[in-house]
Amino acid sequence: MNEGGEHRDAADQSASGRRGPDQRGSDRPGSDDSAAQRRSEQRRSNHEASTYWAEHAWLPSGIASGVAIDVAGGRITAIRPSTRPQGEVLGGITLPGFANAHSHAFHRALRGRTHAGKGTFWTWRQGMYRLAGRLEPDSYHRLARAVYAEMALAGITSVGEFHYLHHAPDGRPYADPNAMGEALIQAAADAGLRITLLDTLYLAGGFDRPLEDAQRRFGDGGLESWLDRVDRLHAPPHAIIGGAVHSVRAVPEEAIAAFACSTEGRPVHVHLSEQRAENEACRAAHGCSPTELLERCGLLGPDLTAVHATHLTGRDIELLHRSGTTACFCPTTERDLADGIGPARALADAGVRLALGTDSNAIVDMFEEARALEMHERLVSEERGRFTAEELLAAKTRHDSLGWADAGRIEVGARADLVAAALDTPRTAGIDPSGIGYAATAADITDVIADGRRIVHRGRHATIDAGAELAAAIEELWV
Ligand SMILES: [Zn+2]
Repeated sequence: MNEGGEHRDAADQSASGRRGPDQRGSDRPGSDDSAAQRRSEQRRSNHEASTYWAEHAWLPSGIASGVAIDVAGGRITAIRPSTRPQGEVLGGITLPGFANAHSHAFHRALRGRTHAGKGTFWTWRQGMYRLAGRLEPDSYHRLARAVYAEMALAGITSVGEFHYLHHAPDGRPYADPNAMGEALIQAAADAGLRITLLDTLYLAGGFDRPLEDAQRRFGDGGLESWLDRVDRLHAPPHAIIGGAVHSVRAVPEEAIAAFACSTEGRPVHVHLSEQRAENEACRAAHGCSPTELLERCGLLGPDLTAVHATHLTGRDIELLHRSGTTACFCPTTERDLADGIGPARALADAGVRLALGTDSNAIVDMFEEARALEMHERLVSEERGRFTAEELLAAKTRHDSLGWADAGRIEVGARADLVAAALDTPRTAGIDPSGIGYAATAADITDVIADGRRIVHRGRHATIDAGAELAAAIEELWV
């Protein structure tokens, strides 16, 4: 979600939460000794060879039955279909791990709390700014680890966290200026996911407008200070440090152009044309569409993922295609916020790769995101069968949009990310396994293996009680 230019709700914060990393550790269940122990367990587990046996598995060549999948060092070393049960049995159908290409973890705390009266965009955004003003490194860590545990339970093995909550609520840096980003990286480690921290450049409150009060903690003042801070972020093996331009409204043209020259090789994301108002404001300020502006700045390209891409012209689609840019749709958020329905089929027909994200985390269910891609297209086109099941699976496994090009397929040499969905629940019983994407929800996922390590077992997270931790982390923010 790209929350728009102006805010109505000045955050009620103080600098009382300005604490350094040395003060963050002792009461955090995922830090210090316990985290070190978990990392050591993970290293051990990653180097142990094991065999999973899938009743059915979705391989690049199609669905096979009785598939033995050998894993060592966190990677798939052999795949043997038509075998008898052996090793650790995964019932139902096993899919590659899902990539959630666009998340704002803290928006999860808004779920079910923005519909007073009927709920407008403004009730949502006022809540979002109020929440953004309350989070500190400790509370963000507690919230994010529970959110990422919910994602793990939904079969997500890589998350792209579009992160702009950088500084203390008054805008001053924490003693460790990356305390918030590090809290997210640690939260992903706790939940067993890989994370691509898309550290976001956010400089303006709109075209030619300064940041407003509630936005001050998002900003670094300029590209150089953003680069200095991001260069200090350390990426452990489960993390990649990527970059993001918040939107064409929040970063001036010259800064987008300079950003484009300074992020070579990193995955880069940007919110693009989520709402018509952004297009109109961009035309008024620059005389072109947001996509054309990004092209002029040199930001489009194979390392870029354009998030939403909802209101595009034919020329925008052509520019995204020619540059090799990926488009990330977030259908459950886009419908929650009444953004509109993007041209998914037109983009795919033009050759643009499609990824999917849970964005505001109003729903965390990659089955539903992929299904919505197809179903929204049906409503717009009045035609069934707009995407094949293979295309929908590809959209929810676009780990390459997050810099993890060796994940997302059950094949020898790939990262051992496996998601087993049951075929005997009230939703899935009686279906053909190839129809899993049209029937299942995240609740049908029983087992998740990420980088060769089991993070979900029989529908429960291996180390985190997601429901209890979500309730505790969210309730403390609204008291
Ligand atoms: Zn977003």
